[in-house]
Amino acid sequence: MSGSDKSMKALREVWRRAENSLCADCGKPDPDWASSTLGVFICLSCSGIHRNIPSISKVKSLKMDHWDDAQVQFLAKHGNAVTKAIYEAHIPIYYYQPTYNDCQVLREQWIRAKYERKEFTELGKQLPYTDGVKEGILWKRGRDSGQFQPRKFLLSEREGCLKYFTKQDAKEPKINVKIDVINATFQPEKIGNPNGLQITYLKDNKTRNIFVYHKSGKIKSRLTRNFLKEGFMEKTGPKDAFAKGEVFVGSRENGYSVQKGLPSGTQGNFSWPYGITIVTPDREYLFTCETEADQLDWITAFTSVINQDMTPQEYAIEAYFKFKS
Ligand SMILES: [Zn+2]
Repeated sequence: MSGSDKSMKALREVWRRAENSLCADCGKPDPDWASSTLGVFICLSCSGIHRNIPSISKVKSLKMDHWDDAQVQFLAKHGNAVTKAIYEAHIPIYYYQPTYNDCQVLREQWIRAKYERKEFTELGKQLPYTDGVKEGILWKRGRDSGQFQPRKFLLSEREGCLKYFTKQDAKEPKINVKIDVINATFQPEKIGNPNGLQITYLKDNKTRNIFVYHKSGKIKSRLTRNFLKEGFMEKTGPKDAFAKGEVFVGSRENGYSVQKGLPSGTQGNFSWPYGITIVTPDREYLFTCETEADQLDWITAFTSVINQDMTPQEYAIEAYFKFKS
């Protein structure tokens, strides 16, 4: 057996391992490509995304390309399990991990976050979102087609702008709007998604609307943050009922908390006796409930939301809500 045959035989053995039977990035069965620099087995479609990040990943076909001994040994030493343990060590629970049923834009966002920005290698490492720029994927309804497509939304606090891009790697945003002309409202019914959001802004003195939803909101266990407990509480003013979703509730680490009762000395026309105070980084929201059982229920719901880490997407949504209040 020649040296080349030997390394191809060794390659097939590594390739056949159970851990390498699904694409490391999207879970598609029977990957037949691999990254010789990351040591992962991936599908054809994800290999195309890797090819766009040549500084991080070099991809080769397992069937058509030649692999030398050193490269095979590298694959054997790494492989999908070891590499995942490094690059997916600390994925926030509510981060949406796309699968092969999801489109390219969403998978590219995920692959870049994982290998290029290394967002999940350390606990709490979300660097791109801490410097005043927040970005995330929202599904946006096409104006003519009515179809929802994933779009990268970016909020820059420094520039005071909200932008979105039609392509993942686009340099120029499709829209670029000043934050102070934006209003966002929760519209689950209108949009047909529990996390539906209507973003309204002024352009050339005309009102424009964008309809979006947050993908992970489709999964019930994931939508608690943007989808407050259903029901009504009474907000300041007797007729000013408060519906779900009107206030964004972020995580404790980001300055959100919930307290039983109203601050002492609160004036206002509350006709219900059981108060709740929601503290956000910007202000306090005061609510009252009709019964003590309602009050405790709401506090439990808010507390469970506050105790969850926020995903990058939620940072973007938080930003919209900030400018609504
Ligand atoms: Zn894949």
